[in-house]
Amino acid sequence: MSFFLTSNKILILSPHIDDACLSAGGFISRFSKEKDIHILNIFSKSSFTHFGVNELSLNTRIRKREEKNAYRQLKVNIYLTEIEDWFTSDLLKVERDPILIKNKIIDFIQNLKPDTILLPSDMSCDDPDHQFVHSIKDLIYPLAKIYLYNNQPYLSKVEQGLYKMTGYKKTIKVLYDFSVKRNMLLAYKTQLLKNEIDGVIQFDKNNGGELFYEV
Ligand SMILES: [Zn+2]
Repeated sequence: MSFFLTSNKILILSPHIDDACLSAGGFISRFSKEKDIHILNIFSKSSFTHFGVNELSLNTRIRKREEKNAYRQLKVNIYLTEIEDWFTSDLLKVERDPILIKNKIIDFIQNLKPDTILLPSDMSCDDPDHQFVHSIKDLIYPLAKIYLYNNQPYLSKVEQGLYKMTGYKKTIKVLYDFSVKRNMLLAYKTQLLKNEIDGVIQFDKNNGGELFYEV
């Protein structure tokens, strides 16, 4: 039987404040009405970008507001663990304890009891936070059905090649009105302004998944 029919409570682990939304926003938008969807943003304390460290708190406030606007379109439950991301912790010289972080995530999962968990894949992303969240897979395997999402929220101008999911028996068709996704992306105004997102992304109907083209 299809995964969509048997899953009721879905947890999406998002390394940063925007990953679940930008990587799997179409999926979330398609199923948020019929499924109980929860998103845990793990490294959500600060949000460092090219604004510079002096504007860190301002930037984080803006990012969180933008995220709220983005997720408002989806009507899903969002949780923040308020852990510093690797880049900011490095910058601010804050120690991170990987065991504590893992335990925090496991505790959250055990309390929520999702039947399905979506994790970022380990492909095409060398961000340590993404790899950390991906590595949780082995620990949570007995707790729920595990699916991966392709964590490539940004497709930069230098990265023209489209990443293709191959070798899977089933392709999940996420057919939905992608104006929702477009609106979510547009909510991330500062990232659009800073060119971290190269234009608005189009949903790829032919591939039936969330593969993105530069517009
Ligand atoms: Zn990320």
